[in-house]
Amino acid sequence: MFTGFYEELHEEFREVVREFVTREVAPHYKEWDAAHMMPRSLWEAAAENGLLGLAIPEEHGGMGLTDLRFRMIIDEELARADCLAVGLAFHLHDHWVLPAVLQFGTDEQKETWLPRFMDASLITSVAFTEPGAGSDLRSIRTKAEKNSDGSWTLNGQKTFIGNGISGDAALVLARTGESHSLFLVEKSGNPGYQPGRQLDKMGLKASDTAELFFSDVRIPASGLIGEEGRGLEYAKAVLPEGRLGLGAAAVVVAGAVLDATLTYVKEREAFGQPIAGFQNTRFQLAETAAQLEAAQRLVGAAVEKHSDGSLSHADAAKLKLHASEFAKQAVDTCLQLHGGYGYILEYPVAQAFLAVRLMTIFGGTSEVLKETIAHDLLG
Ligand SMILES: Cc1cc2nc3c(=O)[nH]c(=O)nc-3n(C[C@H](O)[C@H](O)[C@H](O)COP(=O)(O)OP(=O)(O)OC[C@H]3O[C@@H](n4cnc5c(N)ncnc54)[C@H](O)[C@@H]3O)c2cc1C
Repeated sequence: MFTGFYEELHEEFREVVREFVTREVAPHYKEWDAAHMMPRSLWEAAAENGLLGLAIPEEHGGMGLTDLRFRMIIDEELARADCLAVGLAFHLHDHWVLPAVLQFGTDEQKETWLPRFMDASLITSVAFTEPGAGSDLRSIRTKAEKNSDGSWTLNGQKTFIGNGISGDAALVLARTGESHSLFLVEKSGNPGYQPGRQLDKMGLKASDTAELFFSDVRIPASGLIGEEGRGLEYAKAVLPEGRLGLGAAAVVVAGAVLDATLTYVKEREAFGQPIAGFQNTRFQLAETAAQLEAAQRLVGAAVEKHSDGSLSHADAAKLKLHASEFAKQAVDTCLQLHGGYGYILEYPVAQAFLAVRLMTIFGGTSEVLKETIAHDLLG
């Protein structure tokens, strides 16, 4: 990240993360990629190193690190080691589910769930998308009906759910009568909570993505997050942080790929000279570096706004739109400079190409983000 972005405390934290990635992630990552699954022991190791639930306040046993730069360091170190799927799995847990519990959960819910968020005994998923509804969450069909004792019965189907198989609980958006509500639903003791097919993604294979089926799943009254009927509002409220996290991760990946490409073009030769000597190579890299710096500054400004609580929906949409489209283009440029090797999956640039392709889709497609920005501009 650009000069002056991180402070000493962040760099100390980076040491812990780098050691964790070197010891616990990098040696096993290829195996997980082939198995399309990461083991629980990875989550436990992350927990032991204090890397889960960084934003959990001290009163709930956490470190209260709401400064997003700490979480970006985790992404940077994973990108440096070409272990991108681990970042996606952690994002869902920390950038999407956790903010919902922190912002809208009761004290009792926080006491129950937050320690388990941190010690990896409650790995979580976000279960918003359905086969018939992704961008348009208003039209989801999964339904929760209230029972006479205040508990709920959940029926429906979700898809594209990250940590869907490995997770212990899902943040579920469901229809409740004419409106929608948000629930944290635990798998344990609920035989009707069934992961379905594991989906075979283009990239980021080490993180599991699956269908989820709910058949007469009983949710205790304490599983409802916030007030009944306000689920869409809550889901919307956590978007800015989630989108900032994804945008920042996209920029981080582009930066790591640019670094690797700078090394590659100096080593690879054609027509008797390093390909770094061709004007096209130099111009492509110069343009990418200039755009990277602009994207980094945009991330920096958004992180600052996030810290002082002023990051708006439009700010986050602009950031994610710009960052994810830039990263897609930048990684493609770098892949081209690798020639045929860029197309071979053992090269990090090929893995990154497949990973960043998701960034303009997940967490709000670029088209949906443009609608958000246009709404802010024009009403
Ligand atoms: C690998 C992966 C992981 C994912 N992980 C999760 C997860 O953990 N949890 C979860 O809940 N979801 C997850 N998703 C789902 C993801 O958020 C959705 O795919 C995304 O929101 C788009 O929804 P959709 O796929 O239904 O596309 P659609 O909404 O059907 O969109 C199809 C096309 O229409 C365009 N479109 C839609 N509405 C408009 C509009 N108003 N104006 C202009 N164009 C429009 C879209 O931009 C897109 O180009 C994941 C998806 C993938 C691929």
